[in-house]
Amino acid sequence: MVVELEVMRNRPSEERNNYWISHCGWCDRELDEEGPRIATHAKFREPKDYRKNEGLVVEFTLATGRPVLAYVVTRNSPAKREGKEVLFQVCSERCKEELTTAMKAELDLFD
Ligand SMILES: [Zn+2]
Repeated sequence: MVVELEVMRNRPSEERNNYWISHCGWCDRELDEEGPRIATHAKFREPKDYRKNEGLVVEFTLATGRPVLAYVVTRNSPAKREGKEVLFQVCSERCKEELTTAMKAELDLFD
């Protein structure tokens, strides 16, 4: 999946970080500390978008206006070495599927 999205910067980054860690990236449900956490990932289409957002939690807005929070990994991280740049954290397989489908449908993303 490759992303080319408008990154919103309308919230302070600390608030975004805390929110990303504790909420499902798709349905916004608060994640239980003990509960399941499922991650999915994407890559920026433009390398400059990766460089600009490296190490930050960013907020993407889908065409429907729905915001999605994601974490952009740092360049020395194991995730980056595996080709993952943008991490989404969701509460269930269903949310993962819905998120992937919505991003593909609305933003012309591809695997
Ligand atoms: Zn969810």
